[in-house]
Amino acid sequence: MEILYKSTRDNSKKVTASYAITKGIAEDGGLFVPEKFPSLDISLEELSELDYKGVAYEVMKLFFTDFTEEELLYCIDKAYDSKFDSKEIVPMSYVDKAYYLELFHGSTIAFKDMALSILPYLMKVSAKKNNINEDIVILTATSGDTGKAALAGFAGVEGVKIMVFYPKGGVSAIQEKQMVTQVGDNVKVVGIKGNFDDAQTGVKNIFADKEFNDLLNKSGYRFSSANSINIGRLIPQVVYYAYSYANLLKNGKIEEGDLINFVVPTGNFGNILAGYFAKCIGIPINKLICASNENKVLYDFFESSVYDRNRDFILTTSPSMDILISSNFERLIYLSCGCDSNKNKELMKELSEKGSYKASEEMKKFIDESFVGGFASEKSVSSRIKNVYDKTGYVLDTHTAVASAVYEQYKDATEDDTTTVIVSTASPYKFTRAVLSSIDGIDHKEDDFVLVDKLCALTGMAIPKAVSDIREAAVLHDTVCGKDEMEEEVRKFLKL
Ligand SMILES: *Cc1c(COP(=O)(O)O)cnc(C)c1O
Repeated sequence: MEILYKSTRDNSKKVTASYAITKGIAEDGGLFVPEKFPSLDISLEELSELDYKGVAYEVMKLFFTDFTEEELLYCIDKAYDSKFDSKEIVPMSYVDKAYYLELFHGSTIAFKDMALSILPYLMKVSAKKNNINEDIVILTATSGDTGKAALAGFAGVEGVKIMVFYPKGGVSAIQEKQMVTQVGDNVKVVGIKGNFDDAQTGVKNIFADKEFNDLLNKSGYRFSSANSINIGRLIPQVVYYAYSYANLLKNGKIEEGDLINFVVPTGNFGNILAGYFAKCIGIPINKLICASNENKVLYDFFESSVYDRNRDFILTTSPSMDILISSNFERLIYLSCGCDSNKNKELMKELSEKGSYKASEEMKKFIDESFVGGFASEKSVSSRIKNVYDKTGYVLDTHTAVASAVYEQYKDATEDDTTTVIVSTASPYKFTRAVLSSIDGIDHKEDDFVLVDKLCALTGMAIPKAVSDIREAAVLHDTVCGKDEMEEEVRKFLKL
């Protein structure tokens, strides 16, 4: 079955998967969604016999129908190799009555590697298919993890330039060091005086600036996005939901057809939306539990049907979730109103003009069938890290701890004893200061890399290569700009 993609803001046109990947975002500002959902064409039993790459092929071939088998296998092979420090790619640990799906074994030790390891290859193949001869300029806003994962994926890739904007002061010290030490002739990293939403809005505005795009095209470039608005990031994320199910089935933890829950630490709503796509293709999922930190816009939506970004932006110890405008939520809103792009456009207009909108009763009912919302305060994140460590010796990073804390609340409130997978999105070594302080109760004043050694001494957990590699690395990027100067920085980088 051929799957084409439509924009959430104008569903009169259809494009191929490869075209959607090269564009990133639709011209009308909407996001691409599949016009209908395909179904897995092998049984769950058969799926359970496959390794990660095998599952990746079975899932991605359903969505990327204009890729040949050879092209897709090439992309998958290149992506999921020894860059990952685990043969399983995504190992699972059973800790305190839940499964932790560890998505942080890639080169930048956060879950963004799952999709950004493959996106450069998908993009390369897509550009060729669409006869694109211009150089692709990837503009990316990051709340901390996408930046490095995208840089690692695209550095040195011919025909591509990549520029990353991150909120100066809004990411962890290790995250920042990872980005500003990035080598490569085709890369540029810029801090902005603003928060993640400012960075994301700035990038979206540049994408939408027609004049600037014309200038760019004349100079032999075209933009694309490595943010989770790109379907080339969303679809590879569906894979590990299917793989988790297959893995639990293979190991006799569930029977074929049993439902399972996933708890997902959420920011831009890309990860959890991929879980929903997995459900739509036939993975038996009961609830997708959306875990927010104190920036609990989504939790409040689940409570009230109102999405309201008019509130203070809080800097938390889980910076990759410090987001008030969850871009991918637009896709769920679109699906929930029966794929009515006019209705969705109206609501998104309200969001950009008033900062809020209200979903109808039917839309909310549709969403509640699959999703539950929860949030964790900074205090409960910290005590969850300590409790799990004291009880089991397992160390959670701050983002995973948000999910774990929300799961504890959920179990208390519902007594739901469905087999549950907690989606673990980062290595504790990326957020050493907050993790160590949670465990030993000390307000540490030392440098972050000293704390890396302390965390290692305390827990015995091996220091990942991603961290030891950047310890002594030289800072190569020190540009900081105002949030209104991002376009200027793009011009400078491209010499326009
Ligand atoms: C990006 C990120 C998240 C949030 O994922 P979304 O897809 O934006 O919801 C959670 N945890 C970590 C560590 C991340 O890097």
